Amino acid sequence: MASTVSSRPIPALYTVYILRSTMRHASLYIGSTPDPPRRLKQHNGAIKGGAARTARASLRPWEMVGLVSGFPGPVAALKFEWALTNPHLSLHIPTESRLSVARQTKKNGHPRRPPVSMQSILANLHLLLRVPSFARWPLRLHVFMPDVHAAWTKWVAQVQTTPEAPLEPVEVLTDFQPSESGVMGADEIELGPPWGIHALPLDYGPMRDYVDKAQDIFTFEREGDCAVCNMALPAGQGLYAVCPNKSCEAVGHLRCWSDHLLAGEVSTHGHTHGHVLSGDTPLVPKNGHCPDCGGPVIWGDMMKELTLRMRAPKEAEKLVKAKRRQEKAADKAAALADKAASKAAAAAAVEDLPSSFEVEPSVVKTIKTATKKMRKPNEAEKPTAAKATKITKSTRVTKAASTLTKAAKTAKPTKTKAARAVTAAVGEASAALLDRSESPEVIVV
Ligand SMILES: [Zn+2]
Ligand SMILES: [Zn+2]
Repeated sequence: MASTVSSRPIPALYTVYILRSTMRHASLYIGSTPDPPRRLKQHNGAIKGGAARTARASLRPWEMVGLVSGFPGPVAALKFEWALTNPHLSLHIPTESRLSVARQTKKNGHPRRPPVSMQSILANLHLLLRVPSFARWPLRLHVFMPDVHAAWTKWVAQVQTTPEAPLEPVEVLTDFQPSESGVMGADEIELGPPWGIHALPLDYGPMRDYVDKAQDIFTFEREGDCAVCNMALPAGQGLYAVCPNKSCEAVGHLRCWSDHLLAGEVSTHGHTHGHVLSGDTPLVPKNGHCPDCGGPVIWGDMMKELTLRMRAPKEAEKLVKAKRRQEKAADKAAALADKAASKAAAAAAVEDLPSSFEVEPSVVKTIKTATKKMRKPNEAEKPTAAKATKITKSTRVTKAASTLTKAAKTAKPTKTKAARAVTAAVGEASAALLDRSESPEVIVV
């Protein structure tokens, strides 16, 4: 049983997604992936590897309207994907709860898959997220389209009105496309943070501080005593898990954490644990509280850190190092962006411009590229630099633009301090450009 799968750490992200054709909303597809943006590109034919069922040109482009995250690995995700694709067959769904029932059989005698709609997918999702086989995993539903979210809410309300006791809630996160009101217009320049699948963390980035803390504890052998059983924890002699809460250094035996969290679950939910479990005592905890700091503890997060530390120490180290580097780069980029913003503001304030003054289209382009770069730091680096040096009509605005480009180049991914500062600077710079367009001598292209 000890396969290669179990020797890998719990992946940073593994999802089961719902794909919908933007051309024909009734065309739906369910799949699983650790990298939704790349997978979407495959479905849309931008890169190799899309499924045959999504290859028809008339159905492209596809969009990911929602997904479930939190799978402990590809096998787990595949199980869920299969159950969601075959709700009429899945043994994870008890017969009495089955929503999709096969009413026809195929020639070979197998039950034919009942017709699939967004409604049926959401209903089965609602069911599967709560069945015993899946309810112990830290699964979360993400919804990216308002209409799909409305359908979900409607379904949940409908199910909740049944006379039974209230159902265990499912954690739902929404991330809709923000209504763009950028100064240059949405088609001119893509302002604003990414959203939907493009805002999902694909790496262990969100765990950096946690991983950093744990590394520090074990490197300097500060394990101390088990937070649960109070026995000493000899360095390097067992599986020790660490509290995920910031500044809490509670460490405990893996088994002790598990017992502690499970005990907490039984005392808060009673033996049956809502509708999730039918009498069986769960072997794997879901969440609870730290005995030291009292803060929330999600078992899945704790296992992610533990497996990363034990099974991929090099990856963990890289993550911590990258954190330090990024912090430095972010500070630098933020400083550059500040400088650029003040330059842009100064440029806007200049009134005695020559009457023939023109803002180069390349300036606008440079800012545009800078923004794009900010969203995707690895692309278009060289062309941007070249463009920045090509701008010959030296005005303060062009200078500001090239500083911006530099800032964008230094800026790492989107949600960093630097990226926000660059966004602000780009906003100010483009506002400055627009301001000048109001004066008759100035032409903004
Ligand atoms: Zn212990
Ligand atoms: Zn704690």
